[in-house]
Amino acid sequence: MSFVGIDVGGTKCHGVRVDEHGLVLEEIRYPTPHASELVDLLEAMFHELSGTQSLGVGVPGLITPDGIVRASPNMKGAHNIAVGPELRSRLGINVHVENDATMAAFGEWQAGAARGAMNAVIVTLGTGIGGGIVMGGQLQRGANGFAGEIGHMVVQHDGEQCVCGRRGCWERYASGSALRFLSGGMSGEEVFAAADAGDSHAQSVVAKFADWVAVGLASLTNICDPEVIVIGGGVVQSFSSVLDSVAKSFSSALYSSDSRPHPALRTAALGERAGAIGCALFLSLG
Ligand SMILES: [Zn+2]
Repeated sequence: MSFVGIDVGGTKCHGVRVDEHGLVLEEIRYPTPHASELVDLLEAMFHELSGTQSLGVGVPGLITPDGIVRASPNMKGAHNIAVGPELRSRLGINVHVENDATMAAFGEWQAGAARGAMNAVIVTLGTGIGGGIVMGGQLQRGANGFAGEIGHMVVQHDGEQCVCGRRGCWERYASGSALRFLSGGMSGEEVFAAADAGDSHAQSVVAKFADWVAVGLASLTNICDPEVIVIGGGVVQSFSSVLDSVAKSFSSALYSSDSRPHPALRTAALGERAGAIGCALFLSLG
């Protein structure tokens, strides 16, 4: 038995066929097209990978439970595209479309670093910050399917301008692109490399970044009380050296820190495959 999932990213669409444990059997990648050609590409990718009767798709942005992409800030022309209904009608199979970060969280929960957890927060630190929340053994999707937009949690009232049009969102301070802002123009990789080489400016940027990451994780823990927090995304490759600083700041930012068990902080296990694997497994598990 195998399952197909396609993760639509800002630059590429990543399709996988996996077995029931999430092991990748086949994978393909195509450049992300203009939104008007997205459904055609997804249909073709499904046929290329097929052998199954269902398809999971992850798309960045606000996705309705029916699979309509309401808005996708990083994809040109993506406004009210009926990805789910259109694919169901063309392919005649069960198709589920979900926010990409939610799907990546689902992948880490089912087949990665949060496997087996009843309560988990999965955080993706990339260009922005995405995530997913598992409580009581259920992935939380909210009343409209829009739950888990943790990057737009405001951590600084009237703070830095965010791409969402509001100010002070967590992703302005703790994402990969926030490192550029905190460092005054260096990329995340450059900042981490310079900090490792002993550059004191870079080290202070990394310390500040770790504080901002920790502040958000502590708020999420105060709200969700997870047993594990998984941190993934592009920043993570250089992240292991920062995890200790994050853990220390996290401890002091947590409510009633001395009187409670702390969640385990883990780096993600599936890397850039988390989204596509999550998409594939989503329908396999009903
Ligand atoms: Zn925002």
